[in-house]
Amino acid sequence: MSEHGQTEVESPDRGAFRVEVRSFLEAHAEPLAEVDPWTVSGFPDDAEAEAYFSRGRAWQATLADHGWAGITWPTEYGGRGGDAWMGRVFAEEAARFGSHSGFVSATIAMLGPTLLALGSEVQKQRFIPPLLRADEAWCQLFSEPGAGSDLAGLATRAVPDGDSFVVDGQKVWSSCAQFCDWGFLLARTDPDAPKHQGISFFLMDMSTPGVEVRPLVQANGSTHFNEVFLTGVRIPAEQLVGDLHGGWGPARMVLANEAAFIGRGGGSTAHRLVELARMFRRQDDPVIRQGLADAFIREQIIRLLGRRIRAALRHDGPPVVDPALTKVFAADLKARNGQLATAISGAAGVAGPDPVGQWVQAELINRFTISIGGGTTEVQKNNLAERWLGLPREPWPDKGLPWRDVPRS
Ligand SMILES: Cc1cc2nc3c(=O)[nH]c(=O)nc-3n(C[C@H](O)[C@H](O)[C@H](O)COP(=O)(O)OP(=O)(O)OC[C@H]3O[C@@H](n4cnc5c(N)ncnc54)[C@H](O)[C@@H]3O)c2cc1C
Repeated sequence: MSEHGQTEVESPDRGAFRVEVRSFLEAHAEPLAEVDPWTVSGFPDDAEAEAYFSRGRAWQATLADHGWAGITWPTEYGGRGGDAWMGRVFAEEAARFGSHSGFVSATIAMLGPTLLALGSEVQKQRFIPPLLRADEAWCQLFSEPGAGSDLAGLATRAVPDGDSFVVDGQKVWSSCAQFCDWGFLLARTDPDAPKHQGISFFLMDMSTPGVEVRPLVQANGSTHFNEVFLTGVRIPAEQLVGDLHGGWGPARMVLANEAAFIGRGGGSTAHRLVELARMFRRQDDPVIRQGLADAFIREQIIRLLGRRIRAALRHDGPPVVDPALTKVFAADLKARNGQLATAISGAAGVAGPDPVGQWVQAELINRFTISIGGGTTEVQKNNLAERWLGLPREPWPDKGLPWRDVPRS
């Protein structure tokens, strides 16, 4: 069955697989009907946020215990060893249930393929199974106060000392770091090399002495982000991924996986907006109707682009759609939906303390999250312009300069 209920002709092995997926989900997943559609994910309450995080973790463990985590990942590291189409079938069926892995699914999608491709055998054996089961939850420690879009300009230092590295510096915007056990960290190991060539990629235990996580309180009272201060933190040398000074390669892989993860789209907000219009008796308003149809069309385009990407993967073909493109599209839709929710409900809806009002507030306040997180829309457009339109690179005044000579604010 397709996501809109039309019956598609499916090969017997796919049909049998789908039945197997459904019976697992029916036995273990929360029915969608029991999940409050107006639940918000930007919590003003830390205990609730932690409970939400833990629920996602627990669901990931359930998936792993029944062989449904890492469907395409190798069995020797806890995956199922299946084909890409199996992942697609599972995602289609899971969309009809309420259980999901929440935040951990993002860092699993970012780090897992990177470790599989570039980690040592020992690292893969040690880190991938607990990553996949979320026994160890991971955060991304890339951005710094002076390095976001220009990530390669980062200033956190890692200095070799015996059989470890000593790390000093500061990270920021580290999502959910307060709940995580490990972080994947970029640090500068060669300040004399040009900025992209002197960075290394480390796996860091967040309980190491010298790691201090300070939550940042947002406008809505939630603390999704953190500052992470690193003072004399010792990281064993065996937790370096890839080559020393070669961290830009794994960093790019993480960023590409992040863009693909964000751009894959989520559940349907268009249908929730239609429900909101009904509640506020705005479904006859011609401008609102145009907005709702527009939201639906854009959602369908993202879904279809996602399908094309997955179909290409299924046939081992080259990516037909750049993940940067789907991310830009998804970011634009999120911003539009936040505006539309506010236009539908008006001031009364936005100010309401009830769950629906809180949902509208969250849609409004969070509408730019994905046009900034995982690389801003402007930066993604620059990349698309260079990769797909052959436009000249942006001016690069520090090209070839040793990092220590690059002017910094
Ligand atoms: C929801 C969310 C979650 C996040 N989670 C994490 C996380 O877990 N770990 C982590 O390390 N980071 C995380 N980040 C940080 C994120 O990666 C950075 O915010 C992002 O890369 C932008 O960097 P910046 O904030 O320093 O902005 P800046 O780089 O200072 O950009 C400021 C503005 O200038 C524009 N700009 C910059 N350079 C160019 C250019 N060359 N051309 C055109 N315009 C440009 C940008 O588009 C932006 O509008 C998260 C951010 C968000 C919003």
